[in-house]
Amino acid sequence: MTTTRFAPSPTGFIHIGNLRTALFNWMIARKAGGQFILRIDDTDPERSKEEYVDAIKEDLEWLGLTWDRIERQSVRLDRYAEAADKLRVMGRFYEAWETPVELDLKRKKQLNMGKPPVYDRAALALSDEEKAKLKAERGEGVWRFKLDHERIAWTDGILGKISIDAASVSDPVLIRHDGQVLYTIASVVDDTEMGVTHVVRGSDHVTNTATQIQIIEALGGSVPSFAHHSLLTGPQGEALSKRLGTLSLRDFRAAGIEPMALLSQMARLGSSDPIELCETHDELIAGFELSKFGSAPTKFDAEDLKPLTARVIQSLEVGDVDAELAATGVPNDLRPAYWAAVRGNTQVRKDAGAWWPIFANGATPEVAEEDRDFVTAAFAILGEPPYTSQTWNEWTSAVKDSTGRKGKSLFFPLRLAVTGQPRGPEMAEVMPLLQKKPSVN
Ligand code: GLU
Repeated sequence: MTTTRFAPSPTGFIHIGNLRTALFNWMIARKAGGQFILRIDDTDPERSKEEYVDAIKEDLEWLGLTWDRIERQSVRLDRYAEAADKLRVMGRFYEAWETPVELDLKRKKQLNMGKPPVYDRAALALSDEEKAKLKAERGEGVWRFKLDHERIAWTDGILGKISIDAASVSDPVLIRHDGQVLYTIASVVDDTEMGVTHVVRGSDHVTNTATQIQIIEALGGSVPSFAHHSLLTGPQGEALSKRLGTLSLRDFRAAGIEPMALLSQMARLGSSDPIELCETHDELIAGFELSKFGSAPTKFDAEDLKPLTARVIQSLEVGDVDAELAATGVPNDLRPAYWAAVRGNTQVRKDAGAWWPIFANGATPEVAEEDRDFVTAAFAILGEPPYTSQTWNEWTSAVKDSTGRKGKSLFFPLRLAVTGQPRGPEMAEVMPLLQKKPSVN
């Protein structure tokens, strides 16, 4: 069965970059009728926070990206320890005691000599005595996985054929000095034991994938299909990494961005398909093809979410915004006419009732000095409410006859005076909603 996972570390809120990973994995599972696992990568007890676990769930639920299972790495530490033991027995795991400063020095020397900064495996050459001495002096070392120095190849679902020379990669540290198990091994054990068949993640993980393939093979697991999507940049191609903190899903939600707008954009951005608003999850999934995504960095512009959101709002029925209309006091019987009039001029759901106070109480009229006499004269020949759908036409015809104004110079000052806004719904639809006769003052 096709099984995918989204594996966030609960050290922060989900941002737009994580969403891309989550969404791709979710769509693959759903398209195949498979399983989608939410895996919380919480092996780092200092940085992992329960509030982020809750926030991740809440954000995914907001988008409707439901999971079939939730797993937590913090309760599986014994599984990782067992895998580490296996690697030790196989001779693929070795302890090393270099300090970060020493490692840094080695890297600098290598770079100075024009060599790639790959760990030199000095720890492998230590005698038992030397090891005992280092342990006595420095305590527990880190544990590194001994890569087989051969080429590691796979066919990537997005990048195509990849081949990496293992000798160009440092033996990865899988366990820290303090015994903390690191992501690289925990992820491999989980992917293998949880039957993960497809892993999609950011292209910053390509080297991880190479080492993980060797670890999976050493542990006798089956290697899933890997795909690495490009990383997002800002609209001008600038790195997004520094701004990701301000591009969290909660920020978008707070700004009134609609889930389907966000999903529609992220499900196609960076692919050869155009971005169109999908109305349902099924549409998102049906049109999704991993092979249509390219490897070039993908430009993301949060501004593009606004028109997509407005399109979602325009497709809402009056019943969908009942709570928002009630909040500003739109009377029940007027709600259908009100919503029909304003929905094309409503950008976010929370503003659905925003025109009502203007219609109910009158606007603060905007009247240019040169239009004051004109507007006063026009309001003088307007009767009292209730108005009908004919009122605007009849009134403006009469004003035209009496003042000689026409076109924009006729309509615009009246719209501005009645609604206080330069743009807005059809005035013919606005007039019947007015509860008071407009006034110039
Ligand atoms: N917790 C890892 C991360 O957020 C998961 C990477 C993966 O998908 O394997 O980077």
